Parts: sequence; structure tokens; C-alpha cells
Amino acid sequence: MLKAIGASFGIAIGRALVISEEVVEIKESKVVDSEREIARFNNAVEEAMMQLEKINKDVKEKLGSEKAEIFEAHLFMLKDPEFIGSIQKKIASDKFNAEYSLKTVGDETAAIFELMENKYMTERAADIRDVSKRVLNILMGIKIASIAEIQEECILIAKDLTPSDTAQIDKTKVLALVTEIGGKTAHTCIIARSLELPAVVGVGASISKIKDGDLIIVDGEEGLIIINPDEKTLNDYKAKKIEFTESKNQLLKYATMKSNTLDGKAVELAANIGSVEDLESVLKNGAEAIGLFRTEFLYMSKTALPTEEEQFETYKSVLEKMGGKPVIIRTLDIGGDKKLDYLPMKEEMNPFLGYRAIRLCLDRTDIFITQLRALLRASTHGTLKIMFPMISCLQELRMAKKILEQCKNELKSEGVVFDENLQVGIMIEIPSAALISDILAKEVDFFSIGTNDLIQYTTAVDRMNEKISYLYDFYHPGVLRLIKTVIDNGHKAGIMVGMCGEMAGDTKLIPLLLGFGLDELSMSASSILRARKTVTNSNYEDCVKLSVPVLSFGDSDEIKEFLKVSTKA
Ligand code: PEP
Ligand code: MG
Repeated sequence: MLKAIGASFGIAIGRALVISEEVVEIKESKVVDSEREIARFNNAVEEAMMQLEKINKDVKEKLGSEKAEIFEAHLFMLKDPEFIGSIQKKIASDKFNAEYSLKTVGDETAAIFELMENKYMTERAADIRDVSKRVLNILMGIKIASIAEIQEECILIAKDLTPSDTAQIDKTKVLALVTEIGGKTAHTCIIARSLELPAVVGVGASISKIKDGDLIIVDGEEGLIIINPDEKTLNDYKAKKIEFTESKNQLLKYATMKSNTLDGKAVELAANIGSVEDLESVLKNGAEAIGLFRTEFLYMSKTALPTEEEQFETYKSVLEKMGGKPVIIRTLDIGGDKKLDYLPMKEEMNPFLGYRAIRLCLDRTDIFITQLRALLRASTHGTLKIMFPMISCLQELRMAKKILEQCKNELKSEGVVFDENLQVGIMIEIPSAALISDILAKEVDFFSIGTNDLIQYTTAVDRMNEKISYLYDFYHPGVLRLIKTVIDNGHKAGIMVGMCGEMAGDTKLIPLLLGFGLDELSMSASSILRARKTVTNSNYEDCVKLSVPVLSFGDSDEIKEFLKVSTKA
């Protein structure tokens, strides 16, 4: 049995599919019969095209054409006579083996594309590397499981899954996720929760004990993985799985209830989404708003920067589907653990402290303006609120607002209508912003506290690092004091204060957060019903009473224990 971090609730029983990141050395060697080698290369290309056509069709059918775009781009590369011709030429003239010729031409072409001024071309470099790898694997007889190609039910075992890997997951095939690295608030876990897939992360090196094809049990609540269980354990977990489904069904009665405490205090229970597809679960679970639309996932599902029109269609669709309920759309928050294959960024020593989110947008105003224009245009289709991520100082906020004003003026002069009263808010996820929240509050319409980052920056604990995950603590008194400061400062200025970090969906903490005075809690859609059960069974006055002594504790274990006893959680 392996014990790690339970990152998404639920129990799964299935066969392990180990996604290996095999790195193979490509050796330079010469061939005698270059014609035969070219034929071998051509066959591999043909096989790769067949694979891609199949994946493209499957992904289009199951996940929609947006997610299939990448495979079309790869097919296009394999049909490019110049690219394929240069490899064939290398085999014919230099008599190098197909693998070496492909690797050399692939790397050279990708490098040239990376240096080009034309953005579209720069963005093709990742496609060339990817498609070359596919053909190389065929030439070398290596079978590497690719997430989009999964045909049978399985539990995915991987070192790490990037958010773009997880975006390709077909929920009818993938039963659960297990990763070697990562913490509770890594974006992989956030997606797992939105897909309602059990997940255990941060398993560490012992993940190698899980072999491809092993029967495993994943308990996403306890963070347990049981490898090749005996019959009794298997039966116990089969029963637990049924119990879990039953208790989930019982929660459904909360889907249509109001989120009022026993003594009548209303709090907004909102959902965090990453795509239009997530709305199905949002509506099923009765969210009252969207508290965070992480737009970077829209960018990650593309092979090039999404155009203004593409973005407009997406935002419009979310707003319309929410039927007038508030929708907070966050501007691009790329960087940290979220990368865009087509937007090469310099390697950084500390990506979470680096060029990300609003910092990137204020530098790449072309990207920012495209998004803001799309948002403004979509604003007439519902109740849109725009939110800027990673604001660390007043200057950044003012610059972002200035660019937004410029976009409004531009649209006005073009005669395009938008919601003139749309609210603008910021995420409070950096301690410096929390500490000047009294000043920031005067210049925005709302705050949303991003505890995922606020915790990592306040406690200096990398949210992705499983080695120190024991220090990543929702209950840290320093973090709780900052949260309380932000809420009070927001309220003094008369603005709404919400929370969209993962902490907002933790039922053990909800009474405390209510007591602190939060107006809105935004979480994975799958957490809403449990949260509503907690809210509707809480007494607001009691929550306030309970929140006062918490601020004088110095130790998070004491706080945990105090809350446990006081709320009988
Ligand atoms: C946060 O930091 O709490 C947050 C909601 O943003 P993200 O998890 O996308 O960084
Ligand atoms: Mg954040």
C-alpha cells in the first residue's frame, strides 16, 4: 500500500496504465541501402498518419473539435513535402539511418521556427518536435501510451501530468489519476476535481512499485493506493465505492437549495471552471455563479494563441449558459506550472515567482488587448466580471485598468457595444497585495482570495513540491490572519470579497470562512453540494464567535483541533 496526498475524492478500482517518459538516445549510423531506408521511413510516416487520423476522429467525437486541433496540425506537418523531403534527402545523400536523419532535421527545423519573427511560425516548433517523436517511436518500435489514445478503462500512473495532458482525458476511459509529483493545489489536481476523477498525487519514488497492468485501488480521500489487493480488500473497497456513490446521490437534494445559514445569512456558492464543458457539472450541482473561469485552459487547448473571435465565442457561450448569473472571468494566468507549447518562454529559476499572469500580460499587451476586447464584446451576453490575477502592487492594477479603458474606448469608436457597468476585480494571492488591500479595495469592485498561491507565497512553500507538502497548510495562522485582513479591508470599502482557492471548498474550514465574513466561496463544481450542506447546517452567529479565538492561535494543529471540537466536524 502507498500513502500520499489525496487530491480528489472518490474510489477507483482498475488496471494501471503507466505513462513512461522513455528518453532514448538516437545514435548516428550509416546505411548501405538508402532506398530501403527511405521506404522504412515512409512506412513509419504512413503509420503515424494512420494513428493521427484515428486519434483525431476519436477526440473530435468524444471531446470536440477544439481538443482535436493539435492532431490536425500534426497531420499537416507529416503531409508537408518540404519537411518530409528534407529527411528523405538526408537519408539519400548522407546515407544516415532514418532515426538519425529524422531527429536531426526535426530538431533543426524546430530551432529555425523558434527563431522566426512570425508568431504563427514560432508556435509550430512544438508541433514539429511532437510529430517527429511519434514517427521516431514507430521507427524504433517503442510504444508509449498517449493520453488521447487510451482505448480501455485504466488508472493513469505518471510522473506528472501537465494541464494540457489532463485536458485530453476521456472520462469514460480514465478512472483515476496517480502522480509521482505535485501537491493538492497543482493544476492537475484542480482538473481532476473538475472531472470528478479520484486522484492521489505526490507519491514520490515508490510510484515505481506500480507496474503496468497491475490491479490497483485508488482512494482519493485518504490518499491511498493499494496494489494487487487480496480478495477481502478488493471486496471492502467495492463496497466503499458503492457507499461513496450513494452518499454523492444523497447530496443531490442540495442542488436546488439556497445557500443560507440556519440563521438566514446568505453566501454565494460559485464554481471554478476551465472550459465551457465544465458547465454541465456546474449546472448539475446548482452553482449560483462562476467565481473563477481560468481562461488559460482555453489557450492551452489550442495550437496557437486564440483569436479575439474564438475567445469571444467561448466567453459568450459561458455567459449565455449561466443565464444571467454572475460570471467572473480571469484574464490569462499563464506561467508557473501552466505552459503554452506555442509560446516559448525562457527557463526560469523560480517560475512561480517569475514571468506569469498579469506580469506577462502587461508586457505582451498584444495578447492582453485581444483578450480584453473579446471579454468586453461578450459582456452584453450575461453578467460578466473581469478579474486580474497575480496583482502584487497598485501600479500593476492601474496599468491593467488603463489598458482595459483603452480597449473600451477603442470599441466605442468602432461602435461596438459592451456592458459599461461591468465590474472589475482582482485576485488577492500575493501577500503584498493582501497587506495593502485597504488601498487596492478603493480601486476595484471586488476581491477574490486565491489561497492556492497566497499560501505558497506567504509560507514560502512551493505548491507543487511533494517533499514539503506537509508545510503547505490551509490552517497556517499567518495565512488565516491575512485572509481576515483582506475580508475586513474589502468590506470597509464596501466591496464583495470572495475566495476561489481550493480552500474555499474544504468543508472543515467553511464555518470559519463564513465567520470571517466571506461573501462568496468558489470551488470545483464537484465540491458545491457538500459545501451547501455545510452552509445550510451552520449558524452564522456561531461561526462568527468561533472565528474570533482562531486569530489568536499560533499553531495550525491547535486551530484544526479547535475547529474540529467547535464544529463537531
Ligand atoms: C489561487 O491561486 O488560489 C487560484 C485560484 O489561482 P490558480 O490556482 O489558478 O493559481
Ligand atoms: Mg493563483
